[in-house]
Amino acid sequence: MTESNLPRTQAKAADVIVVGGGNAAFTAAHAAAVRGRTVLLLEKAPRELFGGNSYYTAGATRIAHAGLPDLVDFIEPDGRHAVTEVPPYSAADYIADMEKVTDGRNDPALTEVLAAEAAPGLRWLHSLGLKYRLMYERQAYERPDGSYLFWGGLHVGNVGGGEGLMQDHLAVAQRLGTEVRFGQDVVGLVSEGGAVVGVTVRRADGTEEELRADSVVLAAGGFEASRELRAEHLGPGWENAKVRGTPFNTGQMLTAALALGAGRAGDWGTCHSTQWDAFTPDNESNRELTNRLTRQSYPLGIIVNARGERFVDEGEDFRNYTYAKLGRAVLEQPGSVAYQIFDATLRPMLRAEEYDMPGVSVETAPTLEALAEKIGVDPEVLAKTVNDYNTSIDLAVPFDPNVKDGRLARTTPAKSNWATPLTAGPFYAYPVTCGITFTFGGLKSDTHGRVLDTAGKPIEGLYVCGEMLGGLFAGNYPGGSGLAAGVVFGRRAGSLA
Ligand SMILES: Cc1cc2nc3c(=O)[nH]c(=O)nc-3n(C[C@H](O)[C@H](O)[C@H](O)COP(=O)(O)OP(=O)(O)OC[C@H]3O[C@@H](n4cnc5c(N)ncnc54)[C@H](O)[C@@H]3O)c2cc1C
Repeated sequence: MTESNLPRTQAKAADVIVVGGGNAAFTAAHAAAVRGRTVLLLEKAPRELFGGNSYYTAGATRIAHAGLPDLVDFIEPDGRHAVTEVPPYSAADYIADMEKVTDGRNDPALTEVLAAEAAPGLRWLHSLGLKYRLMYERQAYERPDGSYLFWGGLHVGNVGGGEGLMQDHLAVAQRLGTEVRFGQDVVGLVSEGGAVVGVTVRRADGTEEELRADSVVLAAGGFEASRELRAEHLGPGWENAKVRGTPFNTGQMLTAALALGAGRAGDWGTCHSTQWDAFTPDNESNRELTNRLTRQSYPLGIIVNARGERFVDEGEDFRNYTYAKLGRAVLEQPGSVAYQIFDATLRPMLRAEEYDMPGVSVETAPTLEALAEKIGVDPEVLAKTVNDYNTSIDLAVPFDPNVKDGRLARTTPAKSNWATPLTAGPFYAYPVTCGITFTFGGLKSDTHGRVLDTAGKPIEGLYVCGEMLGGLFAGNYPGGSGLAAGVVFGRRAGSLA
């Protein structure tokens, strides 16, 4: 960063400036505000579009806990609790899941803090006014006797999903006296003598101003909404991925911090991406449909490409451990399109909020051959794919979607769990493409969110959290850990800033 000649207020705008307007930014703001610091939060989006990717989420948040009795102090009461089993999920389980899905490419120190502090972080936010509940509709199937068993280490979410989360955050910020300014495009960092002392903001009329503070917390998201940076770091083809969340995360603050000498951390070559409605209009950054455009019941059926061939193990693990790498798998298929196939028996088990979405892309037909015609796939190939699958299933093993049931289809590729013959018409094909969620590469920091330079030394006055913090994820991701990471490291950064 160069010394600038911009109009400058030598007086501080606040003790702490937070750049960003999502879950991590607001969490950091609250943590600084409760310590008595004056806080100015600068959000690039206008008021009506604020909230970053966090707004688009289901609010699902991964925390370690000891089972339902350990959660009831901060989740909303629900009549179903009496017939609900929530298996304990320990910090060791959390760490093991992070290592498993990233193939050990997660930063161990950051991971340990994430696993230890996610639950206390949620309790602290709850004490400030945020509301949580058990996510019945996403993380449990009702059993024939009317009871519920939660699965996949992900059980708790915000009341009102991402929208509720961000409304609650805004209300807390206002109550704590944080000044929130919308429409603030932060384009640079101001440094003096190696310390960060403020930011440069571009106003709507194109003019720029400097705003000064003792510390700056960066919580401005990744570069998922920049076609150019996606193509540069993720590789060819990624410019065509659909942006699932906010259009404002274009990586400006990452670029500004790197220019100042910040180190990189994490995997800049991979990202979180999912199967996403391929053909419905407005399938990017859609604030009405938000996460309803995703298609997450694939472990129950099969996924074929435009050639009619399967290409992944749909039942490798619970959805929470595979979904974030399957956008990439679809991107690599011909035309970057694939089709989730189900039959009439499975259809009632699909997540209603996604598969009953208004305007959902779907083709239905009484036979597989007719379905193949409708989706432009060679009927003989699709029939052979389904027949190979159906006849390779070990039917002696009972089907149970609440556990990894080991009901294997011995075909290529194998399907490791939940294999069920597709035999009952009508048949359904849901076209999906690759929706990018957020990028995994970020800035290097210590476990308190202090940004480190390329030599590993803290850059005075500069903190990072949320998607901008590099090192937690690579290649894949356990569902619900993005919001958890924002809570944990936002709280840590804001507590120190
Ligand atoms: C559809 C969808 C569903 C998801 N579901 C879940 C889920 O259920 N659970 C989960 O854990 N994760 C989920 N995620 C991932 C989750 O959204 C992120 O991990 C998390 O929200 C990141 O929080 P953040 O505060 O770092 O970023 P964001 O919430 O994206 O906030 C970044 C903010 O920075 C602002 N900004 C960007 N550039 C600038 C700038 N130059 N100046 C000022 N402001 C700037 C943006 O406007 C935005 O407000 C989902 C994501 C999407 C897109």
